[in-house]
Amino acid sequence: MNDSLKEKLIELLKEQKEIFGDDLFEELIQRKTKVITKDDEEVSITKKNPSIMNKSTPLNKKVYDKQFAFGECEDPANQAIESWESSESLEELHKKIGSCTKCVLHEGRNKFVFGVGNANADVMCIGEGPGAEEDKQGYPFVGRAGKLLTDILKAIKFSRDDVFIGNVVKCRPPGNRTPLPSEMDTCLPYLLKQIDLIKPKLILCLGLTAAQGLLNKKDSLTSMRGKIFEFRGAKAMVTYHPAALLRNPQWKKGCWEDVQKFRKLYDELN
Ligand code: SF4
Repeated sequence: MNDSLKEKLIELLKEQKEIFGDDLFEELIQRKTKVITKDDEEVSITKKNPSIMNKSTPLNKKVYDKQFAFGECEDPANQAIESWESSESLEELHKKIGSCTKCVLHEGRNKFVFGVGNANADVMCIGEGPGAEEDKQGYPFVGRAGKLLTDILKAIKFSRDDVFIGNVVKCRPPGNRTPLPSEMDTCLPYLLKQIDLIKPKLILCLGLTAAQGLLNKKDSLTSMRGKIFEFRGAKAMVTYHPAALLRNPQWKKGCWEDVQKFRKLYDELN
């Protein structure tokens, strides 16, 4: 089987997984991924349970879009005590984790994608992980899927600067494969710390992987859509990933219904 056929097969499986979220697809995608990346050795990573972080001092309203050059950041893997856990600002956290080498994804990383947006946002949008363009630019949701996310937000009267946008993993999985559960487990504490610093009222999970990874659920996207989950002091909802909408425009109607409910919930909370 040639590489482009394999990639198409993975995309098809991802679309099916987007709908059904079943373990069979998870396993198949990961198995196929190994073929593409020649990464047959299972990652030997320290599996770390997300820890409960201390609540930090509230931040002033400001847009966070800083990037650090490699070398300006500490390597969390080399820190005897994980000092990033006590970070009191997004900037401090970014500096402390921006050279992370805790999982295999750092090996193919061009840029670490910390997240971007309002440091004191009421709304966070969480995706799966950086793609090729995100890895190149160091920002989440750029390119076609990013533009669609901007349009979706605009349709429910948010600008990108109103919200904070991040991902479950901060380094690009090779070949745009789905992050492995072990990679998500390793990276998730950073996102939890971001949530604790930002203290959003609402979280919108974009796609099945982000929803399952963040909310620690095994349910399908269909069964999670439309529901409201309590998560770390915020209310979380789930909809399609914009990249899945680009491949399946017939899902846009469902996404529109989801984000309308999300906006209604936001209005009720404010
Ligand atoms: S994906 Fe997360 S845990 Fe893995 S190397 Fe990147 S920052 Fe570290």
